[in-house]
This record gives sequence, C-alpha cells and structure tokens, in this order.
Amino acid sequence: MDDIFLKIIAGEIPAEKIYEDEQTFSFMDIKPANKGHALVVPKKKYRNILDIDPEVFAAMARTSVKVAQAVIKVTGADGVNITMNNEHAAGQEVFHAHLHIIPRFEGDGVFHAPTPVTYKEGEMEALAEKIRKEFD
Ligand code: AMP
Repeated sequence: MDDIFLKIIAGEIPAEKIYEDEQTFSFMDIKPANKGHALVVPKKKYRNILDIDPEVFAAMARTSVKVAQAVIKVTGADGVNITMNNEHAAGQEVFHAHLHIIPRFEGDGVFHAPTPVTYKEGEMEALAEKIRKEFD
C-alpha cells in the first residue's frame, strides 16, 4: 500500500487529525499554503474526481463545510478557498482524492487570478453543445 493518505487514516504515519466521520477524514496539510490549511479525504480510496462515487464526494463536501467554518472561526480568516486538483496537469501530487481547505486573509496573495484565454468565433458555443450532449 503506497497511498500516504490511507496510511494516515490507518494511523500508520502521523498526521494532525482534526475531524473524522464514517466516510471522511480531515487533517492539517504538512506544507500549508496558509496557516490553517487542511485536507478532507474519503476513507475509501478514489484517485480523484474522475473515479469518485458522487455520494462519497457529497460526504466530502459536507465535511468541508464543517472544517471550513471551524478553520475560519479559529484562524480569524477573511475567506476560504475549497480546491481540488485532479490529475498531474491540474497539480495533483497525491493520487487519493482530497479537497483543500485554505483559509485566506485580505491581501495574502496566495493565489493569482489566471489570465483568461480567448475563444475563436463560435468555439465556446460548439464546446458547450458537445458537453450538453454528454448528458443526453
Ligand atoms: P495535491 O497537489 O492536490 O495532490 O496536494 C497534496 C497535498 O497533500 C499537498 O498540499 C501536501 O502538502 C499534502 N501532503 C502530502 N503528504 C502529507 C502528509 N504526510 N501529511 C499532510 N499533508 C500531506
């Protein structure tokens, strides 16, 4: 088993646990983007959003509400980002699904807004039509 988050859940490697329920587990991120940065993970292994059971993702979302509210209260943060990296191209390094709870403080500069890309004429509409067809 080389899944570091499963090892944390099993208590085989140390982590600063903050919350646990039947389906989810939450602990402090070891390389925080800001003080109070926490992770919410499913107890059962999923790689990321591409294979996760939507019910398990819903459980992660419920836990994230609790953790985000607690982190904001305790840190006095002005806001919070809930993010998820899915696959290497999107910045995923640990391939056990997880949500990042990152408290934010006015002017902390943790994230930078991306420069918007530009569609060619009709390109966005064509893409939207293809995506809609996935739900037919
Ligand atoms: P990601 O890039 O979305 O896959 O993020 C993985 C996160 O897991 C990073 O923010 C790491 O700092 C965090 N991380 C990796 N190993 C540990 C660990 N042993 N304890 C706590 N957080 C960890």
